[in-house]
Amino acid sequence: MGKIHVLSENVANQIAAGEVVERPASVVKEMLENSLDAGANRIKISVEAGGKKLIQITDNGCGMVRDDAMLAFERHATSKIKNAEDLLSVATLGFRGEALPSIASVSRLRLETRAAEEPAGTVIEINGGKIARIEEAGMPEGTSITVRDLFFNTPARKKFLKAESTELSHIASLVTHYALAHPDKHFELHSASNAMLVAPPVAGHSERVYQVFGKETLDQLIPVASRQALEHIGLPQPPPWRRKEVDRDDGAGTKEPGEIRVHGFVSKPEIQKLNRNSIFVFVNGRLIRDRLVQHGLTEAYRNIIPPTVYPVVLLFLELPAAEIDVNVHPSKTEVRFRQQTVMHDFVRDTVRAALMKARPVPQFVTEMRAHATAGQALTPGALYGGQPPSGGELSALSSRFSDNGSRPPGADPLTLQPPVMPAISSRFQFEGGIAIEANAAIPVARGMESVPIAPDFAVTLPRHQFEAVPDHGCSPAIDVSEQEPTLSALGTLRPLGQIRNSFILAVNEDGLWIIDQHVAHERVLFERVLKQRAAMKVESQRLLMPIVLELSPAQQAVFSEISDELARNGFEAEPFGARSVAVKLAPAGVDAGAVEHLLHEVLDQFASEEQSLNLEKIRAAIAASIACHAAIKVNMPLEQNKMEWLLAELSKTDHPMSCPHGRPVVLRYSVKDIQKAFKRI
Ligand code: ADP
Ligand code: MG
Repeated sequence: MGKIHVLSENVANQIAAGEVVERPASVVKEMLENSLDAGANRIKISVEAGGKKLIQITDNGCGMVRDDAMLAFERHATSKIKNAEDLLSVATLGFRGEALPSIASVSRLRLETRAAEEPAGTVIEINGGKIARIEEAGMPEGTSITVRDLFFNTPARKKFLKAESTELSHIASLVTHYALAHPDKHFELHSASNAMLVAPPVAGHSERVYQVFGKETLDQLIPVASRQALEHIGLPQPPPWRRKEVDRDDGAGTKEPGEIRVHGFVSKPEIQKLNRNSIFVFVNGRLIRDRLVQHGLTEAYRNIIPPTVYPVVLLFLELPAAEIDVNVHPSKTEVRFRQQTVMHDFVRDTVRAALMKARPVPQFVTEMRAHATAGQALTPGALYGGQPPSGGELSALSSRFSDNGSRPPGADPLTLQPPVMPAISSRFQFEGGIAIEANAAIPVARGMESVPIAPDFAVTLPRHQFEAVPDHGCSPAIDVSEQEPTLSALGTLRPLGQIRNSFILAVNEDGLWIIDQHVAHERVLFERVLKQRAAMKVESQRLLMPIVLELSPAQQAVFSEISDELARNGFEAEPFGARSVAVKLAPAGVDAGAVEHLLHEVLDQFASEEQSLNLEKIRAAIAASIACHAAIKVNMPLEQNKMEWLLAELSKTDHPMSCPHGRPVVLRYSVKDIQKAFKRI
């Protein structure tokens, strides 16, 4: 029995219109989604010339009976929805019935498929939209689609394709991310004779991350998981024309509103990316780009990482199908959440809570390795399986390594180099095992090929382990506990002294720690000001002489908006003439000399803010400014007990790992890292 039917014109017209086949990766995406919709748990993709010459995808899904195989190439022919109502709760990845006909019209396509209920399979060949051959053939259950010479008959579109390596990187990234979303399935991606990804089923998402990216990447990520019951399903108020209907539904028994769930990974604060390309969000198994979720993430990382950088995120959101509208964009990369605020806050709170709980310690060794790549955001470990690079693409990559001059030529990129202190300017640029970044590299599982990563989907496969120098038997082993320390250990550190009166050196059983005294104190004060503010107990000091500030028109506008909040934070400032204010009281701890600078800073920050101000943001910004100006400065000698006090205070903060502006506070050089550097392990 056939399952596919052509949608009525009325339904077809309600589907977001537009071209889906833009490039080889979009063909792969559509076909991959079809395989997943067909229930396949084994999907193999082979490409040649970045998919321009050939894309073949073979699955072990339900296959199609002969009639369906023929119908599948009709426009708006689908087995996934029937009527307009179904569009409101699409449970499959596809539903538009347009991918196969679109792909077949711009390529030479061969479909081989067999459904379980039919003894023989069907082969269909279509060239540029014209059926060339239909025949029966023996084959295993499932579907295999081969797409050759994409855009051979539309030269204008062909011209828009990028270099083979770029197209390949888009495909690789796409397949990798679908593989991450479905750890229980077997995925393979081959480019010519190279196995780029071979991922047999594993138990869960962390195992998949480990399998695909390696241990170091997994170590840089914090797992997130949460669920929340929905109070109602769908829009809070159904549109007026549907109210009656809904009322009737309710009469028949209220629908269970269900829940939203999220799990996945977010990066520790020291991983900072220059763009959003490392943020991957799946909604009900669909890879999407969504501003609402992005915003929730930005909020979660507020005051943890600087506002100009982005984390690495892999989030899987699951919610009842009726809670999202997937019919928004032809390539189905956008969804509309029906309960936007609920979703936004759920993402923000879950990620924030995970970050607060993990309190991870930035690894000093990561930092050491980092500066080699800081400028280019390339990852040495991501390059190739320990063998020398070959081919144009790779030599281009390797020459970029030597260009930036930070690693001696020929040095194994994965062996810890003798610590060369990074320049101060690159001090905070971390780069570890994750290189999900524009221009990073995809190494192959075992082969040699590597391609530069396209900006939107970039992946890195495993980095290699450090190689230990053989033990000559003269060095007794040092006991190292495997337990990852957290920043709660800060209070137990023994300070040894300061480097240049700016960085506190401290030790404990876990290793050597370096604390930036200014940002450490900043974090302590930031949280204190926020707490005092919440309790309406901010301490003030009266200035000997009022300070008169001249304000620009933009600053005046901001001042009138936030003056109440400034007052609650210990300022007393009154208009003084047309364009000035006189400040009489300032928060305790802030030098009179810094008050003017502080206020200008706060006002300017909001003057350039595009989004409307919210109270929480204003409070955080004021607290961050007060903390910054009142904190211990660099180049300041500290007594032993002052250092101990600072570390103890820092350990009590909610979030000791980064300052309110998002810079790291503490670096740790673990005993293990020290051993590695001394080649003891
Ligand atoms: P859609 O996925 O939106 O329904 P497509 O053009 O992608 O539209 O596919 C049309 C139909 O062909 C699908 O509804 C499905 O029934 C069938 N189909 C496509 N690919 C496969 C596959 N790999 N295995 C089984 N059936 C498939
Ligand atoms: Mg489809």
